[in-house]
Amino acid sequence: MIKGYQEKLMNIYEKIRENENRNLKNRKKEILQKAPEIIELDNTIQKLSLALPMAILKGGSEADLDNIKADIQELRKQKYELLTSYGYPVDYLNLHYQCAKCQDTGYIGTQRCKCFKNKLVNLYYETSKLSNNLATCNFNNFDIRLFSPENDGNYKNSQRKNMEKIYEFVRGGYLPNFDNDNTNLLFYGESGNGKTFLSWCIAKELLDKGYLVIYKTSNDLIRDLREITFNNNYMLEDLLINCDLLIIDDLGAEQVTDFSTNELFNLINKKLLNNKKMIISTNLNLPDIEKSYTTRVYSRLVGNFTFFKFYGNDVRIKLNLARMRSQQQ
Ligand SMILES: [Zn+2]
Repeated sequence: MIKGYQEKLMNIYEKIRENENRNLKNRKKEILQKAPEIIELDNTIQKLSLALPMAILKGGSEADLDNIKADIQELRKQKYELLTSYGYPVDYLNLHYQCAKCQDTGYIGTQRCKCFKNKLVNLYYETSKLSNNLATCNFNNFDIRLFSPENDGNYKNSQRKNMEKIYEFVRGGYLPNFDNDNTNLLFYGESGNGKTFLSWCIAKELLDKGYLVIYKTSNDLIRDLREITFNNNYMLEDLLINCDLLIIDDLGAEQVTDFSTNELFNLINKKLLNNKKMIISTNLNLPDIEKSYTTRVYSRLVGNFTFFKFYGNDVRIKLNLARMRSQQQ
């Protein structure tokens, strides 16, 4: 799906420009009916504006050029006064842009405009499987009371206390400092204890603020890494490496091979080098991560990720999480 993003975005920009051109035509039609003298003025200004470069090409004297410029200025003034007298804004007959910086092209020179990223975020949001999940799995719907306050004696804290601590870390430090901090998170522990739920909450919060968050299950990610390696899909590689946050969900659920371990290592490395953040969640315990993904992957994780253990055998948590997910559906 990501493969066609560039093309889709260029189509979006083209539509915006077409739309603005159509709007301008309609505004001109409207003015032609209500105040044709303004359109006449506008046409004369356009003719003179074209005459200016011609005069330069023909080697016209400086005085000639100054005269044309003065005429244009005078006519513009008249046009603005007339528009105002009819109750229109002065730029009513100008082409409008949704983004004046790049004039709705997405690029300033060869650099991507800021609006390009915003559009990419929206496009990704709309087309990814994420949007359905995020409608229900977000901090508005996160109820800490649903986690058990009982301490089963296996850990220092009850499940609720543990979740409270993680929640405080995320909302009190991680999210507010997202721009200035390179913290990567690793959520580990048995399934059904809220790892994915919390990842989605974080994704929603950041996407709403305009960050590009890409969510991948480990299976999808390995499929993408194959696509990059064997089909040279550089756009996809760029997205995975340079998105603001890459969430890799359920690491260990995929079939672990030499290829997947190697490419995962490369991807993590590239993201670390580019200061782009990751959240990895896994049902594996720490020794199993090392065993499955080799010591070099494991040491990258240990050295660059903040680890949080999610726990609880309480079946109610699983039911509560399922309920939270479906509450607003
Ligand atoms: Zn722009």
